[in-house]
Amino acid sequence: MIPLVDLQAQYQTISHEIEEAVLRVLRSCHYVLGPEVSAFEREFAAYCHTTHAIGSSNGTSALHLALLASGIGPGDEVITVPFTFVATVAAINYTGARPVFVDIDPSTFTIDVTRIEQAITPRTRALLPVHLYGHTADLDPIVDIAKRHSFKVIEDAAQAHGAEYKGRRAGSIGDFGCFSFYPGKNLGAAGEAGAVVTNSDEGARVIRMLRDWGQDRKYNHQLKGFNYRLEEIQAAVLRVKLRHLERWTIARRNHAATYAQRLDPALVALPRAAEWTRHVYHVYAVRSPRRDNLQQELERRNIRTGIHYPIPVHLQPAFADLGYKQGDFPQSERAAAEVLSLPMYAELTDTAIEQVASSIQEACASSRS
Ligand SMILES: *Cc1c(COP(=O)(O)O)cnc(C)c1O
Repeated sequence: MIPLVDLQAQYQTISHEIEEAVLRVLRSCHYVLGPEVSAFEREFAAYCHTTHAIGSSNGTSALHLALLASGIGPGDEVITVPFTFVATVAAINYTGARPVFVDIDPSTFTIDVTRIEQAITPRTRALLPVHLYGHTADLDPIVDIAKRHSFKVIEDAAQAHGAEYKGRRAGSIGDFGCFSFYPGKNLGAAGEAGAVVTNSDEGARVIRMLRDWGQDRKYNHQLKGFNYRLEEIQAAVLRVKLRHLERWTIARRNHAATYAQRLDPALVALPRAAEWTRHVYHVYAVRSPRRDNLQQELERRNIRTGIHYPIPVHLQPAFADLGYKQGDFPQSERAAAEVLSLPMYAELTDTAIEQVASSIQEACASSRS
């Protein structure tokens, strides 16, 4: 069986380091916002080439905090994409602002920058591009539009740890970059965790307060805050894994290159990386108009795949109140119907990739006959 992701395989390579780090925290009896969190924040900021990183309880709270620190609230509009994980849109909704969607560019699965201007209204306050699958959005035109209109730019980098745009790290280019360390992400905790990175001293100060009940010091509540704190055990695990992240990223990129050699582009459309991105392949998504059939055929051959994501957010029942309908974002809708995520993780082998490729060949041959 070839899994979609293999957290066991990763754990086996670093179990001693992880267990030592977790025991260190347990023995310290310091559980929340302590020395491990502070050290991880310094190390992750350095990794992202930003002056600040602020740990949070998960990626969704990181987005919520960045939006609040950008001054977003009821009556405002935030532009993002419908082809993303629901958390991107939920975080906008938490602030009371309205999510306004722009379709994706199908060649990168990220926001179509040529369509942003037409979505701007007098209420627009921020642009929230998503670096989907580990491929950065085209940030230069986004930052350009934001500068002209005095909008904030918040990068959803939950799938893009270590990705780069024209040599600059994902998360470091907008006003805020938001990361998730959910276990299956390229950098994953042993549970829930997230972070906001920024070069703004004031933004970092506000986010530090908001994540911990709006306190500037104990029991002095400057702002109406949240319990969005990061735990010591998660930070200790993340510090261990951060030391391996670059090696894992290189492995993912090599696997993507191997897939590109082995897969037949006449059978499935391969993901492409724009020349300005360093793709970190959180997800390796191919496309096929007969996707559901292909997924079933691969399942029968013991190859696990995923669909990220089968229903774009504008068609989710939970967001029906936004008033969008089928046909509003054709590229997102077509991608949702066609994408298929193939097995991708650092420990994946060339043999496994060859098996996936030959199974796709077989599956396509059998479904034609
Ligand atoms: C995972 C993810 C999130 C949310 O992160 P959580 O840690 O699960 O809250 C947000 N946006 C995107 C694009 C994600 O993939």
